[in-house]
Amino acid sequence: MPQKLIVAIDGPAGSGKSTSAILVAQKLGYLYIDTGAMYRAITYLAIKKNFNNKEDIIRLAEKTDLKLDFGEGRTKVFADGKEITEDIRMPEINARVSEISKIETVRKILVQKQREMGSGNRGVVMEGRDIGTVVFPNADVKIFMTASIDERAKRRKKEYSEKGINVTLEDVKKNLLSRDEIDSGREISPLIIADSAVVVNTSEVSIEEQVNIILEEIKKAADKKGISIKIS
Ligand code: C5P
Repeated sequence: MPQKLIVAIDGPAGSGKSTSAILVAQKLGYLYIDTGAMYRAITYLAIKKNFNNKEDIIRLAEKTDLKLDFGEGRTKVFADGKEITEDIRMPEINARVSEISKIETVRKILVQKQREMGSGNRGVVMEGRDIGTVVFPNADVKIFMTASIDERAKRRKKEYSEKGINVTLEDVKKNLLSRDEIDSGREISPLIIADSAVVVNTSEVSIEEQVNIILEEIKKAADKKGISIKIS
């Protein structure tokens, strides 16, 4: 058995998952996997190719060689060797991604890739919507992050502003609520709190505190499994 932990972090957009997950992965020297980036990549390619029917989108998910390259606190995303890191974060992707993520076969293909990516000897922090429920239901640590809609919208708007993208707070809020509804209401792998997940409400908790809460859970899991971890 490899001496590693699998840490699953789920929650809606803007809940603080990525920020905390990246810091936790860096502190442990673990691999960080942003599964949302994979659904975004397929959505970006579907929009670019003007694909609207399921079969075309499924074929895209089957055929595309997706790579996530995590380093220096940031994930670079490649599709068939071409970097699409920035493209997948644009507002038009947000508008379509949840619809495409509902397609069962697309999910099967990406979940399979996610399991492969997490199956090496290195510990892994994986974030998404269904990591603790579907991708790694036996994850050693399960965290569900959440925050108020106002706080989440404010965070997203700030990210857009920093990139020079102009969107109103109202539009950001609308997109978040619409994605919440689709992601939580879909039949396959809905966004729900996994059994035994620790819920962290980040509305009024600093990033440092969020990271510490997660690290405490990881320490407990490491003790239970009898494996040593180094936190830098
Ligand atoms: O995490 P992020 O906001 O980048 O995810 C974008 C979208 O990808 C989500 O709104 C959801 O529709 C989909 N997603 C998913 N399952 C995951 C990760 C993301 O359905 N594990």
